[in-house]
Amino acid sequence: MWMNLFNLSDTTEVAKKILQRGEMVVLTGAGVSTESGIPDFRSPDGIWNKYDFTEFATIDALLRNPVKVFGFFKEFLGPLKSAAPNKAHKALARLEEVGLVKAVITQNIDNLHQKAGSKNVIELHGNALNARCMGCHKPYTLDDIENERYGFPPVCPDCKKLIKPDVVLFGERLPDAAIKTACQLSMDSKLMLVIGTSGTVAPASGLPHLAKKAGADIVEINVEPTIITKTTTDFFLQGKAGEIMSELCEKILNEISVG
Ligand code: NAD
Repeated sequence: MWMNLFNLSDTTEVAKKILQRGEMVVLTGAGVSTESGIPDFRSPDGIWNKYDFTEFATIDALLRNPVKVFGFFKEFLGPLKSAAPNKAHKALARLEEVGLVKAVITQNIDNLHQKAGSKNVIELHGNALNARCMGCHKPYTLDDIENERYGFPPVCPDCKKLIKPDVVLFGERLPDAAIKTACQLSMDSKLMLVIGTSGTVAPASGLPHLAKKAGADIVEINVEPTIITKTTTDFFLQGKAGEIMSELCEKILNEISVG
């Protein structure tokens, strides 16, 4: 049944398409980082199987019960600091180096694209390594929260308001500049590579549709078909992001060196 609904592709075909288009914009989700040991949200062993997101990841929950939500932050965000980029992050950084990746738009908050060497990274949902006072906006770090340097839950010594990780919780606005840039990049893209997202979190989930409407080819990498596969994807590469991206990168670099 599925096989009739989307075009299962291979890395040779996609490598040719990327070289033909000459440039791509990449959209990543939590699935690009699972091979770095960071669980995603919605897979069978994802975070929402353990936690109810309405109690831990909304701005209302944080204001209602900061002790409970900061307990979750410490457990989930703490390990992000020591996580290392995997083969998928590294392949994307290499493809940016040779001029084929124009930008990486990410829903992730783990800083792994930057750690891998990607330069043009648009963070839609913030970066968990940074934190900010909710009152005076003074910058802090994840370290400050983890070490309980300003108490638990952490409170800004200047204005006595909560210090919150610099991540977008459900119920909060996305950073204006990031979403504006992401929309423009999507509308201008010739090819969008969508990796490891379930396509269920708006407005990021709308970007592939925006790109497609503007004429881009949509290539998707995921371990399983998603809502995007059915509605928008032109080339679906099924499997783990790290394995597929390193194979794809190798084929592209071989073509470039031969050509
Ligand atoms: P999601 O959990 O809804 O979906 C993850 C997707 O990745 C699924 O479709 C799954 O099939 C796929 N996937 C899992 N492992 C994969 C792999 N090895 N290779 C290829 N695909 C794989 O995540 P989402 O769509 O990004 O949206 C949810 C929100 O999760 C985002 O807002 C993001 O901020 C947040 N989040 C971020 C991190 C992180 O920073 N690493 C981790 C968890 C959640």
